[in-house]
Amino acid sequence: MAVDAGIKTLPMLVGGAFKEARSGQTIDTYNPATGEVCARFPRGEAGDVDDAVQAAKRAFATWQHTAPAERAACLRKLADLILEHADELAMCDVTENGSPIREMRGDAHKAVGTLRYFAGLALQLRGDTIPGAPGRLNYTLMQPFGVVGRIVPFNHPLMFAAGKAAAPLVAGNTIVIKPSEHTSTSALKLAELFDEAFPPGVVNVVTGLGSEAGDALVTHPDVRRVAFTGSAEIGRTIQARAASVAVKTVTLELGGKNPIVIFPDADVEKAIDGAMRGMAFTWQGQSCGSTSRLIVHRSLHEELVSRLGEQMDGLRSGMPAEESTDTGAIVHRGQFDKVMRYLEIGREEGARVVAGGGPPEDEALAGGLFVRPTLFDDVAPDSRLAQEEIFGPVLAAMPFDSYDEALSIANGVSLGLTASVYTGDLSLTHRFARDIEAGYVWVNDSQKHFPGCAYGGWKDSGVGTEEGIEELYSYARLKNVNVLYD
Ligand code: NAD
Repeated sequence: MAVDAGIKTLPMLVGGAFKEARSGQTIDTYNPATGEVCARFPRGEAGDVDDAVQAAKRAFATWQHTAPAERAACLRKLADLILEHADELAMCDVTENGSPIREMRGDAHKAVGTLRYFAGLALQLRGDTIPGAPGRLNYTLMQPFGVVGRIVPFNHPLMFAAGKAAAPLVAGNTIVIKPSEHTSTSALKLAELFDEAFPPGVVNVVTGLGSEAGDALVTHPDVRRVAFTGSAEIGRTIQARAASVAVKTVTLELGGKNPIVIFPDADVEKAIDGAMRGMAFTWQGQSCGSTSRLIVHRSLHEELVSRLGEQMDGLRSGMPAEESTDTGAIVHRGQFDKVMRYLEIGREEGARVVAGGGPPEDEALAGGLFVRPTLFDDVAPDSRLAQEEIFGPVLAAMPFDSYDEALSIANGVSLGLTASVYTGDLSLTHRFARDIEAGYVWVNDSQKHFPGCAYGGWKDSGVGTEEGIEELYSYARLKNVNVLYD
């Protein structure tokens, strides 16, 4: 792909100033729907990260003592600014990330919802008074860590860069955000709005490679609190790298290989709708919560698989900027190659392709990284197709005969982010909710989550939860104060 020499470098935000990398080096990103270069931004490294951390440290001195209501007002201002610029910001993600405009517009509104939710919690970060012993007052303080390192992935660039800043900031921390090197444009546009809404240094945005800028943030001695959203593999690296320099508080929101389990008494229409929405084909299956393992009772299996295949065949692959597009392009070449490799693995493992199975035939899409929504049937529960997160539009179907078998398949993976169950049986519902090893469970639904309701993974899917009040508390350190007054 040819580099466009005329394209302008978008600067990083460091201590209230817009800057290039110290080295002057840049990274280009490509529109995955066309292959054309679409953005250029700084390749930040350890020195740039240090500049941002030092700026955040200086800003912390004031921000930690700023009234919570004032901090909340900054978040609300940012939310208003995002709404004003929602279309422009959404188009950055459409161009760089490949997901359809209908969805990316929604992301801007979800970011606004998250900012407003956490702004509303500003006065809820409370300690306790504890009747420890006579003649004493014992109470707890919830105090910010200082500088938080916030690393986010490619699949919802704007929504994560904005929304995941909310809880640490309202708790009184300052932050350094590191967006994905594949999708940094919306975070850099957002940096202009951060600059308008917050005092200098409170929010900093540093771009660069994960192994350089990301690693420098994780291992910076002045960053005691790291929050990471991304793959399980990198999550484990981050735990190890953070521990190599200090004892740090690290929370991780990682990948999923999530089951959708359909029992014989399920409402079939609703189950098909749930399986379609659950796969997030509107983001080309690139959703951590995607229900990518379809576990169906044998009595419904044939009907469900064939009807789902028809519906998937009906989805329109198209240019991400078109309103009528149902499913767009895979974010970058590496991810596309990974998805294509899993299509081969599925075939090699003996699974049967019911729908999709490769790129669309449409000539107009030949220059982009498009893959049709794909359904494999007859997938062995212990196969790679059933075990490993693909993070693409690939659904693996397998039948079951009993509750125990369904549960053993559903729990038989190392990841445990979400699960969905379709049934009309009340006791089975609650039994499944109790037994499933996942952090978020839908009953007769899929895909949706809401501000206020904790979301997070079990097992290799993560540590901690976000989106609820627990996230706010995770950005504060508890201090116990013991006063002897008699
Ligand atoms: P990734 O793990 O490759 O990268 C995520 C971020 O980490 C990027 O900003 C990257 O630059 C950075 N990074 C990479 N190596 C690093 C290192 N050594 N040190 C520090 N930072 C490093 O993930 P991705 O491909 O961008 O996103 C897809 C993954 O994210 C999937 O596994 C998906 O399930 C997961 N995800 C999870 C959630 C959740 O809430 N649980 C949400 C969205 C995505």
